[in-house]
Amino acid sequence: MSRLKLLTFLVCIFFASFAVANEETLSQLYDLSNLSITESSTEEHLAEINRVALQDPSDQRVMALSNILKAHYYLTQEDFNKAREFLIKAKPLVDLIQSDKLTNEYLFANMFVLRSSSEIDAAIEIGETLYKKVMESWPKHKLSHLVLEQAYLKSFKYKYDESLDLLKLALDYSYESNDPFQVAETYNLFGIIYSELNDESSANEYYKKAVDIVELHPGLSRNTYLYTNLADSYRVLKDFDDASFFLDKSEKLAKEDEDVAGLAFSYQMRSRLLVDQKDYANALNYLKQAQEISDKIGEKLFNYEIHSELAYLYLMMDQLDKAEEHLDIAAANDSKQNDSDKFYMEGIRSSILYEKGLYKEAYDKLEESYENYRTQFNDDLVRVSNLSREQLDQAQLNFDNKLLAKENELTAKNMKESERFNLLLWILIGLLLLSAIILIVYIYRYRQLAIRNRHLAYTDNLTRLPNRRHVFLQIEEYHKKSKHSSFQYSVIIFDIDHFKGINDRFGHHIGDKVIKATKDICESTLSASDVVGRIGGEEFLILLPKTNETEAYRVADKIREQFENYDFGNLAEGLKVTASFGVAEVRTSDQNVDVLINRADRLMYEAKNTGRNRVMARSTI
Ligand code: GH3
Ligand code: MG
Ligand code: MG
Repeated sequence: MSRLKLLTFLVCIFFASFAVANEETLSQLYDLSNLSITESSTEEHLAEINRVALQDPSDQRVMALSNILKAHYYLTQEDFNKAREFLIKAKPLVDLIQSDKLTNEYLFANMFVLRSSSEIDAAIEIGETLYKKVMESWPKHKLSHLVLEQAYLKSFKYKYDESLDLLKLALDYSYESNDPFQVAETYNLFGIIYSELNDESSANEYYKKAVDIVELHPGLSRNTYLYTNLADSYRVLKDFDDASFFLDKSEKLAKEDEDVAGLAFSYQMRSRLLVDQKDYANALNYLKQAQEISDKIGEKLFNYEIHSELAYLYLMMDQLDKAEEHLDIAAANDSKQNDSDKFYMEGIRSSILYEKGLYKEAYDKLEESYENYRTQFNDDLVRVSNLSREQLDQAQLNFDNKLLAKENELTAKNMKESERFNLLLWILIGLLLLSAIILIVYIYRYRQLAIRNRHLAYTDNLTRLPNRRHVFLQIEEYHKKSKHSSFQYSVIIFDIDHFKGINDRFGHHIGDKVIKATKDICESTLSASDVVGRIGGEEFLILLPKTNETEAYRVADKIREQFENYDFGNLAEGLKVTASFGVAEVRTSDQNVDVLINRADRLMYEAKNTGRNRVMARSTI
């Protein structure tokens, strides 16, 4: 053997031994991949993966598989974020190495990760291809895990018949592998499916079986959601005591085991129980905690569920804005594509509209959601649909009734309001009428007063005859008339003779009576169209329309005669009264009334001066 050949041989031995060592590490890792979930969910298991992987840290297969196994470990902890991280690390290596066995492990873990991020279709596809590839080679407990997950995934697509068939297969595998964890898990999923099928008594029976198995095997106690599911099924069956009892248990176990996902689930179901017991404030508390935890661990699948339940709670607590906010978040996370969940969310949205008083919109929304729900039922939902249809119709009926009640309430309120408005209107009309009457009375009284004032302003106090102002206004009118037409008129001015003497002899009051008597004397002689006014103390003016000087003279003389013959002795013993008259008729040459009056006045003084008790006119001079 040449030295070169020897060297080559030694190098080969070296690499071969290296390869053998790597194979062994890999096989140790594969052994770890075949452990039961109970075994692979411990921290020791994670430490073991790390320890084994460190034997050959540079081998890409080791690196890939160890990362996949770590992902599996975190899946058992339901820490989907961590699981996702490790799978992302493994992915390029898996693609590079192209080993079927490795790829299968990767796909297996990825199926759960995809489900957690709501990619149900992709997860189902992986499940189906994977099962075909590994059904002969994988240990039964692992197959049971795979088939169980497939059954679970199908339930999201309402393929409940397929789910139940897969569950039967999973149950066989889990019994064959004598893995109580898998048996409990399978019974639990039976419970979930029956619950989805609205057969809660069957669901309850399966959940009880699952819990019984866990109780028999204390090592499996970390499956807190088995207790939670049982509790929730008691809640649906209205057995709140048992529901509360098992929730206490699941909460306690989750805390002991630091199972945060289990705790979140327990809190969410506790909140449902509290909602059923109408304790909304506490329900909200629990649900908020559940939301915080599920956000923290990256649980997305049921995110919409928590948010729509939060929306419902806020609705119940009359916080409509918050309710809408959570409903929007829920709607944005509805990738579970569950029509009945959508229907539930639309229902809440309708109730929010209803609470806002938008009754028409609320009704339309609900109608639309019912319509969608009905039309979207497919063959897989026949069983559910028959049950749900009744609930649906009942719910719609309830809403209709609620709406009707609200409508009646509104009508009654409107009627009451309109009655109140009518009353108010009548009061207002009454007040208006009253003010109008008061106003009319006041206007009337004011006018009366004005008329009286006006009358007083133009009337002489003592005789009630037109006063000087009045008489002069009247002459002005006649004068204007005479300017524009052939209207003829005359004036008589007369003054009682020696009136001062009468006052002096008989007293002032007798003088007043004489003035009053003057009025009677004039009126008995004059016609209705003639005007007599008192224009001074014992001085009077008579206006005679359509009368010339001669006629006026005759009238004046008649009055003078009346004075002479009047029985003043009635007033005072020995009282005799006479008066002196000036008569003038209007002339076209009269510039104004003053000219005419002056003429009459002068003639009256003429009469005084020529012995009194006489009538003077131009024609008599
Ligand atoms: P003559 O014949 O020149 O007219 O003489 P007379 O005394 O009538 O004239 P005079 O003007 O000197 O006096 C008028 C008097 O009339 C003076 C006044 O006191 C009196 N008198 C004026 N108004 C009234 C009145 O309303 N009642 C009474 N009782 N006397 C009046
Ligand atoms: Mg006189
Ligand atoms: Mg006089």
